[in-house]
Amino acid sequence: MTSQNPVIVLHGGAGNWPTRLHESALNGVRKAANLGFKILLEERSALDAVEAAVVSMEDNPIFNAGIGSTLNLLGEIETDAAIMDGRTLRGGGVALLRNIRNPIKAARIVMEQTDHVLIAGIAAERLALESGLDKGNLSVLRRVQAWKEGLKQLKSKQMKRSSNKTIEIFLGRLSDTVGALALDAGGNLAAADSTGGVSLKLPGRIGDSPILGSGLYADNQSGAATATGIGEQAMRLVICKTACDLMRQETGPSAATDTIRLATKKVGIGLGILTLDRRGRFAAAHNTRHLCWAARTRLTSVEKMWGTRVSK
Ligand code: ASP
Repeated sequence: MTSQNPVIVLHGGAGNWPTRLHESALNGVRKAANLGFKILLEERSALDAVEAAVVSMEDNPIFNAGIGSTLNLLGEIETDAAIMDGRTLRGGGVALLRNIRNPIKAARIVMEQTDHVLIAGIAAERLALESGLDKGNLSVLRRVQAWKEGLKQLKSKQMKRSSNKTIEIFLGRLSDTVGALALDAGGNLAAADSTGGVSLKLPGRIGDSPILGSGLYADNQSGAATATGIGEQAMRLVICKTACDLMRQETGPSAATDTIRLATKKVGIGLGILTLDRRGRFAAAHNTRHLCWAARTRLTSVEKMWGTRVSK
């Protein structure tokens, strides 16, 4: 077993965070980072650390994941989540869950207890419940009010349904999906993420978060990455696999900025990414206004509303 210095880096979403929420968001990522790092210090796995960090953020209504998820065009909640093990390249994702309190736990069940990588809808919900996961009412008043407000704005702009254009117009509402990356003492990388998706999305829309390569990726031979922002952009660039491929030659920080530069050029504004390379070097980069993130190593403790902003 290699004795690697453990690292956890995680985010609470890219987008446009209203100033009044900054303190709660930073407290949320701090709490999740402390929890995940403690697990790494106990010499447990990177997978356990990213799962626990994501559970902590799913349980925190400030974030758009688990309790506090955003609503789709019909005012319903449909959550997506995934987890990936960089040692084995195994991964699991769930999509369109409605009432499962911690979607990330369902994703881990898909990875560890099925032969599949992605399960969606009623079948995913059933699998989660049969595996003993808790049901939860994920709706909070703040999101219901935002949904009502969003519908009014859609009507005033005479837009009848959600489209990529609508998502971009509502970039201000795009924030607070969660994701985490970890490197454990054994040198293993893992990634996890969870989201209610973009608000006012069409029912049945699945974003980047449950898709390996797009919302997250982890490979001990290169690095780990997790994305946040407009999922359609992330999927078109397979953005996390792209970042991990860059980490074969580059450091985590340089892969993060190069990936966001490429995204800005190819698909415009709307994304953020965290990277962590196999030597423990990490970064947060984004072309959105904010990216709320935190990191812990034995020497560093960071919580910020911004990473490296790369808008050109
Ligand atoms: N990437 C997520 C999605 O498109 C949303 C986000 O990160 O805010 O579903």
